[in-house]
Amino acid sequence: MEEKQEERQEPRTDVPSGDGPVRRSLFEVPPPEVPGDVFDRQRVMVSWQQKKVEEATALVLGCGGLGNGVAMGLCRLGVRKLILVDMDDVEATNLNRQILFTKDVVGMRKVDAAKLGLESVHNLRSEFETLHIDAVKEWHKVVEAARRADVIFNCIDHGAIYDYATNSLAKVLGVPLVTGSSYANTALVNFYTGRPGMACWSCLNTTSESFEWTQQELEEWMSKKGHSTFGVAELFSFLKNQAHMEGLHVKDAVATGLVDFWAGRDDGRAAEENVIPIKDIRTFLIKFVQPHILSLLSQEHIMNHESIGFIPKDKNFPTRYVGSWVCVCVSAALLMVNAWAQDLAGEAVANYNNFTLNTFHASNSQQDGADGKSDSFCVICKHASPQQQQQPAQ
Ligand SMILES: [Zn+2]
Repeated sequence: MEEKQEERQEPRTDVPSGDGPVRRSLFEVPPPEVPGDVFDRQRVMVSWQQKKVEEATALVLGCGGLGNGVAMGLCRLGVRKLILVDMDDVEATNLNRQILFTKDVVGMRKVDAAKLGLESVHNLRSEFETLHIDAVKEWHKVVEAARRADVIFNCIDHGAIYDYATNSLAKVLGVPLVTGSSYANTALVNFYTGRPGMACWSCLNTTSESFEWTQQELEEWMSKKGHSTFGVAELFSFLKNQAHMEGLHVKDAVATGLVDFWAGRDDGRAAEENVIPIKDIRTFLIKFVQPHILSLLSQEHIMNHESIGFIPKDKNFPTRYVGSWVCVCVSAALLMVNAWAQDLAGEAVANYNNFTLNTFHASNSQQDGADGKSDSFCVICKHASPQQQQQPAQ
């Protein structure tokens, strides 16, 4: 790991800055074609980094709609190795957009079906490693795989705090992080270089939506359950069943939160009552529980967890309520791969890219107000080592 960070901090003398892969001039004779070279047509582009592509190991977290397209794109680029991670099996409703799967593989593990699809159609030279694991509860296996990776593609839809965790992991390892999402007519691609002093996911994003239940929804949940107060038992029940949070860290976060919540209040209640006033329940989760959870995911701790089952899963809508299809899924996935390839070729890739497919509208931004650099208030960057915090050479 140390070696990798050192290596990445050296100036990139081999890459022309800001050009990206561009076509060769029509008046310039390309290098001679090597017979049988399947990558010839990308190798001839000016600035293209085929050697770096061919040396790279990519960690692909999630083999759903995005993960399928990302893995296909990486194989066609010619990466050395893909580490594919997923815990699910293929379902019939995946087939309209998850392009590595056929009707024959419904019921098969997604990682195995993805490898099969890649090997039978798309693979040109890559090796595969498959991890049929829960990327939340078996986090230590994700960490171990990430140590061997040169880039992380996060295609898992678990929520903002999972994205925060993968961001912290990428930042501590100094590798690029590519995330994305797609639904209906929208494709989103986020790219963070992982280089010292450059913006990370949490410089630009808020995690507050992970407790996105409104006060009204929380009160409705309580009344449905027949509770009149929000005590710790009700709170743990809510966090386990609705936010999928479990483990000792959740107990610690709530206990610490209760002490902090009651400290300095003089309304006659005591912390040992273990009750949160109903009107304050949302505030309690966001202001007193979440910071404790986030502190466990900082760069100093992120490599050490066996499980990160203590993080909340977003209250996301099932795909059926939103809809998804091959055009938006594969577009987003290939644009994710493209972001990484552009960065390798020296192009400055925007941190945030949004494409609306039905109007062909695209927008992108480096970072609000900070031009792609680390935000000094970012809790992940704040915990970086002094070496990591240094500003990139201009
Ligand atoms: Zn940051």
